[in-house]
Amino acid sequence: MRLVLLGPPGAGKGTQATKLAAYLGVPHVSTGDILRHNVTARSELGKKAKAYMDAGGLVPDDLVIAMTERRLKEPDAKKGFILDGFPRTLAQAEALSKFTKLDAAVNLFLEPEELIKRNTGRRVCPKDDTVYHIFMNPPKKSGICDKCGTPLIIRDDDREDVVRTRIETYESQTAPLIKYYRDRGLLREVYASGLIQEIFLRTIEVLKESAQSRGR
Ligand code: AMP
Repeated sequence: MRLVLLGPPGAGKGTQATKLAAYLGVPHVSTGDILRHNVTARSELGKKAKAYMDAGGLVPDDLVIAMTERRLKEPDAKKGFILDGFPRTLAQAEALSKFTKLDAAVNLFLEPEELIKRNTGRRVCPKDDTVYHIFMNPPKKSGICDKCGTPLIIRDDDREDVVRTRIETYESQTAPLIKYYRDRGLLREVYASGLIQEIFLRTIEVLKESAQSRGR
């Protein structure tokens, strides 16, 4: 299955993408994770992307499109993928439509007040990218990754001022994709409040209905 996850920063795209990828047996492709690894590795791409990311803005389309196209050409993505964080602009959506055919675009939606609360409580493992939340999904031992014992960090772009900018960037550049995918009959809406498992089950349900309506 080839899926795109849409939704504002903090809607839980990364968490749901990880669960969906495991359930469907396809890779989770997070453009944010790929970019962060490039920043850490100080690659050419990472050097170009860092300033945009730190400011809560978008990395230029040409860089992100080329990077994602390369990733989706890898053998593990032949059977499908869960795209998390891409596309984020209409130009990216158009480019994506040229190199693959999607089954659905799932929009995780949530009230704006809850978004700020969610974003500022996020903690991540710098080693294996596991995402926690101090209220909704805390690690067993405060501040430590359950899987590898590494101290958790707050991402630079999870500071409150940056979170506000990221939400504004989402509203102006990415929210138009909801209409884009609705017009193409691919949009599926999932309310992203509640327990992680509840949201996951809602998503599976929506995808099953979607597959049935498409005759599969
Ligand atoms: P994320 O982890 O998906 O929130 O991404 C973190 C940051 O990486 C974003 O705030 C952007 O600066 C950058 N980024 C990730 N995906 C994209 C994309 N598709 N287009 C442009 N910038 C992106």
